[in-house]
Amino acid sequence: MELPKAYAPKSVEEKWYSWWEQHGYFYADVEEERRAYCITIPPPNVTGELHMGHALQHSIHDALIRLRRMQGYNALCLPGTDHAGIATQMKVEQELWRQEKKNRWEVGRDEMVRRIWAWTEKYGGTILKQLRALGCSYDWRRTRFTLDDGYQKAVLEAFVRFYRRGWIYRGERMVNWCPQCLTVISDLEVEEVSTKGFLWYLRYPMHEGSGEVVVATTRPETMLGDTAVAVHPEDRRWQPHIGKKVVLPLMDRLIPIVADEYADPKMGSGAVKITPAHDPNDFEVGARHNLPLVRVIGDDGRMTAEAGRFAGLDRFEARRAVLEELEKDGALVKRDAYEYNIPTHDKCATIVEPLPKEQWFMNMKELARSTISALEREEVKYFPDRFRGYSIEWLQNIRDWTLSRQLWWGHRIPVWTCRDCHEVIVQVEPPAQCAKCHGAKLEQDPDVLDTWFSSALWPFATLGWPERSPEMDYFYPTHLLITSREILYLWVARMIMTSLEFVGKIPFHHVLIHPTILTRDGKRMSKSLGTGIDPLELIQMYGADATRLALLYQCSGTQDVRFDADVEENKVLRSMTTEMCRNFANKVWNAARFVLMNLGDAPVASERLPAGGNLALADRWILHRLNETIQQATDALENYRFDEYGKQLYEFVWGDFCDWYVEMAKLGLYGSDADERIKVRQMSVFLLDRILCLLHPAMPFVTEEIWQTLHEGGGSIMVQPYPRSEPGWIQPEIEEKMAFLMEIVRAIRNLRAEMNCPPSKEVKVILFGAEERLAFLRQQERYLRALARVSAVEYLTEGERPRGAATAVAGETEIYLPLGDMINLDEEKTRLSRELTRAEEELARVRRKLGNGDFVAKAKEEVVRREKEKAEEFEDKIRTLNRSLGRIREVEQAGGKT
Ligand SMILES: [Zn+2]
Ligand SMILES: [Zn+2]
Repeated sequence: MELPKAYAPKSVEEKWYSWWEQHGYFYADVEEERRAYCITIPPPNVTGELHMGHALQHSIHDALIRLRRMQGYNALCLPGTDHAGIATQMKVEQELWRQEKKNRWEVGRDEMVRRIWAWTEKYGGTILKQLRALGCSYDWRRTRFTLDDGYQKAVLEAFVRFYRRGWIYRGERMVNWCPQCLTVISDLEVEEVSTKGFLWYLRYPMHEGSGEVVVATTRPETMLGDTAVAVHPEDRRWQPHIGKKVVLPLMDRLIPIVADEYADPKMGSGAVKITPAHDPNDFEVGARHNLPLVRVIGDDGRMTAEAGRFAGLDRFEARRAVLEELEKDGALVKRDAYEYNIPTHDKCATIVEPLPKEQWFMNMKELARSTISALEREEVKYFPDRFRGYSIEWLQNIRDWTLSRQLWWGHRIPVWTCRDCHEVIVQVEPPAQCAKCHGAKLEQDPDVLDTWFSSALWPFATLGWPERSPEMDYFYPTHLLITSREILYLWVARMIMTSLEFVGKIPFHHVLIHPTILTRDGKRMSKSLGTGIDPLELIQMYGADATRLALLYQCSGTQDVRFDADVEENKVLRSMTTEMCRNFANKVWNAARFVLMNLGDAPVASERLPAGGNLALADRWILHRLNETIQQATDALENYRFDEYGKQLYEFVWGDFCDWYVEMAKLGLYGSDADERIKVRQMSVFLLDRILCLLHPAMPFVTEEIWQTLHEGGGSIMVQPYPRSEPGWIQPEIEEKMAFLMEIVRAIRNLRAEMNCPPSKEVKVILFGAEERLAFLRQQERYLRALARVSAVEYLTEGERPRGAATAVAGETEIYLPLGDMINLDEEKTRLSRELTRAEEELARVRRKLGNGDFVAKAKEEVVRREKEKAEEFEDKIRTLNRSLGRIREVEQAGGKT
């Protein structure tokens, strides 16, 4: 059994991934006698490609699924994609325009939908393939798509049930309309963009008598649609004018002055223009006063016939034209520079037009009520918990949900109207005839449902709802939902609402909100800014295991991840943390090679500890540490503290196991005691096995490769039991003793390094200390000799301390290393003096810089801080060099003797 010299991720990753898939290791089927664990992944857009946010999210998904599987759960991670109404349709429309210079209306609805399906089947779901490169162990047989047949049925069923509950209704409401995409969009898709513009003051003359009203607006073109001027009912200035009329300039229309609390007496003149068709607040005022709706801006963003001579102009051209004419008529009072927010569509950046439209809406009040009480009772736990509070707050202020979208790609609303008798039919299956007049002329509502309506059903629709499937009985509620914070309301809150309504249960026990991945200096990661990182590139450079571990290692529960990488033009030059994790994979690899090379010919059972008790100090200590690591790392992973999980294992494997245990084990392995040799072999395989299992959730590939070499012909490491803590291994007194031994070894190593003593040179050491301490060290002397490269040890409880020796203290034990043993005194003196001179020159230079007021005043804070640090470093160095030189002088004074 032997491993190649270096770990080569590429070949290993492909090999094991397809082996896992072929052997069905990712499958989870209903098995009543086993405990279930289930996660349904947030379905990425079918058009999507893997970015760093996904990479983090899925490193977490897979680490947890692998952990639970090893802990004996029947663990299902169910993947899938979202049809992403607007994003997908836009993509295919753009392609259509590029290739054929046609828009969707020229192609027609059926053909367009056919083309989007064809596109989806050809290019869609790339992201699911990319997740395989990351090592995700998802049950791909169960992959769902929000437009597959079963899912469509679930969506329509949900609509019909809500409708029958009386919660879905049709009404004319102000909606956010995108004149570019020609669809309604939700509040959550509107991005407010701060803009520098103007506040225009317009003069409307009174119809009777003299006087005028001055109103202010940022959108002067809407004045064409004004149907009133509102003033506050208690505004003394205006009270006498309420009910009178003003003349609307350019349109010569008479409009009333109405009293409404919406008008703020403190703003400007106290009077405000009312355009019910083009402003959500004005729409409300209009409804209260029965004002007519005059629509001057059409769906396409152009002025309508109602805009008179401005009809046909684009809304921005109309602004210029209206201002020009107002100015000519003397109706323009002035303009002030003004900064305000403009609503834009987050998908296409077009300025959103508020328009009154007939839409399908859903009343959310009752659904929100039951969800609020479930959240207040903490039936669903949020990590971090503060997001539960935010969700409750959002639910308390919930507004009716606009369900319809003027798109073709999606779930078409299951509502038909009879052309003969106007009967409205709402049902899942298309009706053959009118239920009332039996006529066959039925027309289906042209709109589709908001994409979030379908994704709100995700956890149960993917498991078979509305059928009563065995999966629903067994895997539901699911255990965990992992998501970014952006879609906490849009999606997570709605899943809880629909699940409580349709299934009568919460959809998941835990919601984990993972951090956002930022660039190293805290900026947004974005391709268009050039700051993006392609996770596949990281995998290419460092391997999937290193990429996963680097993400988890930086993922704390509370702060956003500032991903440690140098990036230029979306290209990774270097990522220190990922590199560190790759080195760690190599370290594990080399430790495994060492263990394998020293196995000898006898096969070793790894399940058990070496028989016969009487374990060596190193063995008892490493078991104690192993037990602690198992407890702490498992607890961290189970409670979503991924950084801590990574750090615990890194320190145990690299520090305790590789740096200390393996070095100490070599004594037994290469020693003359045959029994001990066997014990050490058993012990090191035992430890290696557990290390591999502990690491497997984060680093599936390298651990499988080593596991398969160790246990050829056995099953995958992914179904081995996850290591459990053993109270019998806890030995605090051994840990304390070992800590003392390590302190002595470190002190000797430091002294040797300080005196520039070559690592190969063995030196003598003299120890002064308490009898008990020395007795322990005498017992473990072979470790001391091996670890600190010591040729002889002298133990003294009292007497004169040697002169001309390098000294240190560990606890109350004094350590003396005679210099004459370690170095050539003359050469060393010359070297030290030279270094001292150089360090003093450097220090003087830095001090001059810091003494220069100009530099300190002008340089960046960070630069000054770095210079100060440098000064401290040189001061330290000078102290150390002087100490070393002092020791040599002591030896010289003592005549070269110690
Ligand atoms: Zn748009
Ligand atoms: Zn009819």
